[in-house]
Amino acid sequence: MIWVVVVCGIAALVVAPAIAAVETWRLRRDPDDIGFWVFARQVEGRCQVRWGRGQSPIVRLPLPGAEGRARVVPLGRGRQAVEVRAWLAASTGFAARVASPPQAPNRWHAPGLAPVELEEALPLDASVESTDPDRIARVLARRAVRDALAHLADRVAGFELRVNGGLVGLQVRPAIPLRPGAAMEALGGVAVDALRVLAAEASELAGSLLDSGEAPPEKACAACGVRAGDDPWICPACAGAIHRGCREMVGGCARAGCRLTADADPGRGAEA
Ligand SMILES: [Zn+2]
Ligand SMILES: [Zn+2]
Repeated sequence: MIWVVVVCGIAALVVAPAIAAVETWRLRRDPDDIGFWVFARQVEGRCQVRWGRGQSPIVRLPLPGAEGRARVVPLGRGRQAVEVRAWLAASTGFAARVASPPQAPNRWHAPGLAPVELEEALPLDASVESTDPDRIARVLARRAVRDALAHLADRVAGFELRVNGGLVGLQVRPAIPLRPGAAMEALGGVAVDALRVLAAEASELAGSLLDSGEAPPEKACAACGVRAGDDPWICPACAGAIHRGCREMVGGCARAGCRLTADADPGRGAEA
């Protein structure tokens, strides 16, 4: 009988510290993920963890009229950017890039992407490029958009907004190097606030194009709305054709449901 008491006593002494040790080890192994889960709760999203080293978890979140996805992308030298993207229900039919502080044009981009001079300058220091100057000017003329971008520029070290057909993406950079989870926790909410405004305006533009019957051309590139041309990239997963420059700009396929999008559903998720 005595040995039962001894075993129970030892178990009581050992089990709790063992659980604590395992928990500490798990946190040490994956300290970065915690920030993703915190962010997911903030935005009422779901955190999905991907297998493999260096793979950012993906947070999926609801946006008005769009599906939101957030992840962290490496910028090199240990620096990270938080990327939030809205997959709209319809295409805006153009591509654009707005960078603050201003940046030189990328080598790889949608064909026809060219610097745009706005009639009314933005209330922040930014460069603007687009394949359709009128459409980006229309989006950037909205008071809500101008306020959201100015507010964002005050809160982060830099940002880049990309419009690619039915995809609106925002990359924000922290002022100091942060680990991925910390970057997401610190900047994810700020980025999503701006993305909500941008996605709403882009959705409205896409909807008005549909209403006016401006259908995209046959074999249109999903990332810019222009015909995909003679030598497009053909997605091996969904067989969609997009410009090679557009593919670089978007970081993969540009069709929302495709598994080769940069922020695709990893297929194994858990509720946050
Ligand atoms: Zn394109
Ligand atoms: Zn695809």
